[in-house]
Amino acid sequence: MPETKTEQRSVRALPLVGAPVADAIKREVAAEAAGLKAAGVVPCLATVLVGDDPASAVYVRNKVRACEELGLLSERYDLPAGTTMDELLALVRSLNAREEVDGILVQLPLPRGTDEARVLDAIDPAKDVDGFHPVNVGRLSLGQPSLVPCTPAGVIELLARAGVEMRGAHACVVGRSNIVGRPAAQLLLQQDATVTVCHSRTRDLCSVTREADILVAAAGRIGLVRGEHIKPGATVIDVGVNKLDDENLARELFEGEEAERRVEIIRRRGFTLVGDVHPAEAAAVAGRLTPVPGGVGLLTIAMLMRNTLKAAKRRVNGDG
Ligand code: NDP
Repeated sequence: MPETKTEQRSVRALPLVGAPVADAIKREVAAEAAGLKAAGVVPCLATVLVGDDPASAVYVRNKVRACEELGLLSERYDLPAGTTMDELLALVRSLNAREEVDGILVQLPLPRGTDEARVLDAIDPAKDVDGFHPVNVGRLSLGQPSLVPCTPAGVIELLARAGVEMRGAHACVVGRSNIVGRPAAQLLLQQDATVTVCHSRTRDLCSVTREADILVAAAGRIGLVRGEHIKPGATVIDVGVNKLDDENLARELFEGEEAERRVEIIRRRGFTLVGDVHPAEAAAVAGRLTPVPGGVGLLTIAMLMRNTLKAAKRRVNGDG
């Protein structure tokens, strides 16, 4: 990583942590789900996992556990890696047809060779709790959001509940993927921010990001956003979740005790999770900064629970 000049301030960035926001959203969902239960309806999420990817299995387990904690029902469909496209589509269609199933989550990535787009397109848009169906993507871009992707929705909740002014702010999103960057940009636009989207072909990234009051990093590149990319006092949201196994880089990214703690984690577990933002440099320039882990990542499941509740409310009341 090249040396950069960082604009130093005596004040350190305030950590913008995800846990209290995620807990608040989960409490709200649990309370509303209890209200629906009294009316005879229990929101139900069906999860579909294909193959034996250990990370995907952990994600699904956490989603099922969150349902249990909040009083939502869940149905788990764990299918072998050899599941055919026809079998997968038949399962999705059968879940679409069952009124008591509110949300359908197909855990990505699907095994190599599976046509992911075709599977996602088969999900009833009203049950598409991941918000990836073209109908929901279209609604989002028309400013008529229904079910919106969970991680970008979590970014907005984090900003809103921390009192960060989005209206009129210049927001810059680094990354244009369908699951994070693009929907995050759309949601920020809906909040009346002036939005710039950067990607791997952006010329002079630094000069663009440095204009932003709110900088959202979702590139999947360790330490991409350095001090020089950040406007002093800006709010920096680090969506990146990357595995780091290089002790020297850990010492470069983190300072003091945190650097030692990370090195110790690498030695014990083989890796530590880091974001797309250089944490030590960003802390010296930004006004607020989300940690990795412990920031945006915690919001994703909370927003999935909220989407499932939303789908159930729509089933019952035709609203949500
Ligand atoms: P993708 O790989 O799909 O997209 C990355 C985006 O970043 C692309 O648009 C790419 O540009 C852009 N990019 C890559 N390198 C650069 C660069 N050097 N300069 C500027 N832009 C760059 O990743 P995702 O959107 O799926 O994920 C992004 C990060 O967010 C990952 O670390 C992922 O792990 C994390 N993540 C976290 C979640 C959570 O917290 N729950 C959920 C989902 C993702 P181009 O389009 O030109 O290739």
